[in-house]
Amino acid sequence: MLDQKFFINFFKKFSEYIFDNKEYLTELDSAIGDADHGINMSKGCKVALEKIEGSTFNSISDMLKAISMALMSSVGGASGPLYSTIFMKMSISFNNKDNPDFNDLVTALTNALNGIKALGKANLGDKTMIDVWEPVVKELNSIVSKNESIVNEKDRLIVIAKESMNQTIPLLAKKGRASYLGQRSIGHQDPGATSSYLFFKALLENLE
Ligand code: ADP
Ligand code: MG
Repeated sequence: MLDQKFFINFFKKFSEYIFDNKEYLTELDSAIGDADHGINMSKGCKVALEKIEGSTFNSISDMLKAISMALMSSVGGASGPLYSTIFMKMSISFNNKDNPDFNDLVTALTNALNGIKALGKANLGDKTMIDVWEPVVKELNSIVSKNESIVNEKDRLIVIAKESMNQTIPLLAKKGRASYLGQRSIGHQDPGATSSYLFFKALLENLE
């Protein structure tokens, strides 16, 4: 069973990873973008953290919605609406579910992936955050469909997220700012795939 505390701890951990990697994410974005991904994400996490630390919520759904709204109002660039959508889709998915189980979590993450694909129109291999989200969510679904435990597989899932992030390096960017560079986008790791790796690392490490 997952409770509100689990999601608060996850978001705190994710924010910590974003703050620790602010320069790194910005450096990655300076190679193929406009050098603001670390700044954007740090700002959003700071505003969202203040929001959740200063309030009490009636449900997990309400808490995730507050994060989504904080990210939407504070994060500039493409990543603002995309990360906001992730938390909004999860919020909707947990509506009326106060003690979601691991299957519900996988469903929520699948809905989040579908949401960011619908919004950004990116597919696997376009060198975006989808390149981390899709393989991880696919593996999560495969594990639950076999009635296996995602807790037992969490280390392997983190490795999949990391390898998927690394696999964005040789790709040609087809979406977002990096796509303006054409061939010159090849040879650089995608910043959004990197923050998405940190998202899954924070989420999965937290599972027990
Ligand atoms: P911006 O590109 O507007 O400056 P950020 O630098 O904060 O925004 O975020 C860039 C990241 O957003 C990229 O590295 C990529 O992973 C992700 N991204 C951009 N466009 C899309 C899209 N259409 N679909 C999915 N992810 C995208
Ligand atoms: Mg940018």
